[in-house]
Amino acid sequence: MSSHIARHLDEVRQRIAKAAADASRNPSSVALLAVSKTFPVEDVRAAFNAGQRAFGENYVQEAVAKITELTESRREIEWHFIGPLQSNKTKIVAENFDWVHSVDRLKIAQRLSEQRPNHLAPLNVCLQVNVSGEASKSGVVPDEALTLAHAIAALPNLTLRGLMAIPEPAGTLDEQRAPHRRLRELMEALRADGLELDTLSMGMSADMEAAILEGATMVRIGTAIFGARDYSH
Ligand SMILES: *Cc1c(COP(=O)(O)O)cnc(C)c1O
Repeated sequence: MSSHIARHLDEVRQRIAKAAADASRNPSSVALLAVSKTFPVEDVRAAFNAGQRAFGENYVQEAVAKITELTESRREIEWHFIGPLQSNKTKIVAENFDWVHSVDRLKIAQRLSEQRPNHLAPLNVCLQVNVSGEASKSGVVPDEALTLAHAIAALPNLTLRGLMAIPEPAGTLDEQRAPHRRLRELMEALRADGLELDTLSMGMSADMEAAILEGATMVRIGTAIFGARDYSH
């Protein structure tokens, strides 16, 4: 039933390898995050059995149910929270995930740091940046990213790893590249200002090639691995 997942994973790995080659980059410099939101735990297992180890989820309750079901593989799986995060959900996220990509306010970062259990390694976080202007509501505006990044980097139980963006859908490769380029240039500016960042989380099923050409180190791929999402239930 889920054999298509192994095949799709293979196709996505080949797309990543080709885009990396086109960008004269080592394919191993682009990590693949499999976005399993709305799909059942069996599909996560199928991807796991095909060698995938990093999974992204958007909805806290759904994610924790899967994390719990896959407890026997907890040490091998990296769980990434990539959805909008409200204050009342930070504790459960701090307790269950390895990464959070969607931090865009200091208050959320402070709560994650305070609520990160001491027996766990610091929580890896990315600052979500709004690189598409008014079209998107989530993410800090680029002008405020530097100040916020320094404040987050100072929190004890978080490790600020880099930046994340969800650009507006765009048609041509050049149009897709522009917002990804803005995110890369912003990360370069932050690094020049002393922040040690190594992660550019950008690129989804429709624009992973553009993101990789612009320096993505982690692409977040759902549809191309698991199929179209059904939100009806
Ligand atoms: C759903 C989602 C993805 C995956 O999108 P696809 O187009 O299905 O690959 C990536 N990133 C975020 C933040 C998402 O919410």
